Amino acid sequence: MQLSANHIAYLPKQNFKWDTGIEIKAFYLSASWRVYGDDKYDYLILTLSERLPYRSMQDVSPSKIIVDVFGLVNNTNWITQLKTAKEIKNVWHEQIEDDVFRIHIELRHQQHWGYFIYYKNNVLHIRIKRQPTSLKIKKLQIAVDAGHGGTNTGAIGLNSKIQEKDYTLKIGRALERYLTRKKANIFMTRNIDTDLSMIDRTLMLREEDPDILLSIHLNSAGNQNIKGVSTYYRYIGFRPLSQYILDRMLELKLNNFGNIGAFNFALSGPTEYPNCLVEVAFLSNAEDEQRILDEGFHKQVAKQIYKGIKDWLKSL
Ligand SMILES: [Zn+2]
Repeated sequence: MQLSANHIAYLPKQNFKWDTGIEIKAFYLSASWRVYGDDKYDYLILTLSERLPYRSMQDVSPSKIIVDVFGLVNNTNWITQLKTAKEIKNVWHEQIEDDVFRIHIELRHQQHWGYFIYYKNNVLHIRIKRQPTSLKIKKLQIAVDAGHGGTNTGAIGLNSKIQEKDYTLKIGRALERYLTRKKANIFMTRNIDTDLSMIDRTLMLREEDPDILLSIHLNSAGNQNIKGVSTYYRYIGFRPLSQYILDRMLELKLNNFGNIGAFNFALSGPTEYPNCLVEVAFLSNAEDEQRILDEGFHKQVAKQIYKGIKDWLKSL
């Protein structure tokens, strides 16, 4: 797909359909913006003459959301900014190429709490989640995703032949119990052994709109010597949570397999809430496998993840 003169994108064929009704114009003009808030979110809205493709990025220090709209030419000379917007500090624009229009949104808080971009008719909406007024764990809704399930068994234990899907659920449940005791509001994407596609999980989470998401998986490698814990994120603005959780997990004397960024995992993809994938330990390593088999270890993992979340909240 041609996004603009210098940019192309690729789509899976099955997601592509020719639209014969559209007549592509040489350029499209941007119009006024409106920045405001309701009781939960801030919004930046912008009316376009057609739904144009866009991409978004997070920036840190200072925290910013950047949205590029392809095919759009600057004609914005009016930006209404209302006091009801609480998280948006500043907005401005930049014509970065003749046909690529950049929207800058500077945030008040250092931490990104997520955003969602969508069209309503031809109006582009950038909806921004505010930092919660209370940073107590009992005020947060925490989603927990136990990886795999049903026919998607995941990795297999080296000696025990246990299935990853069963142990992600055991650890996920231990985490649910621990966080519930701490009065957090928990949403589990699955509580039983069931098939759940990545799209199902993503849409379920979009509906639920949690404050944060934790995904639980167990790692596996061809080399049996590889072992340890690792945490993963995709977007830079969501990195800190994964660092705090990893630091606490390392107290369990697991090997440090690392904090991994730009990770292309489906549930690291949503921009709507900070999220962290925890690969607790390796099923393909005998030593790690022994620990994974131990129920006491599940409780310890739950406690360390809780401590990581607390450390992260304290830092904000
Ligand atoms: Zn997995």
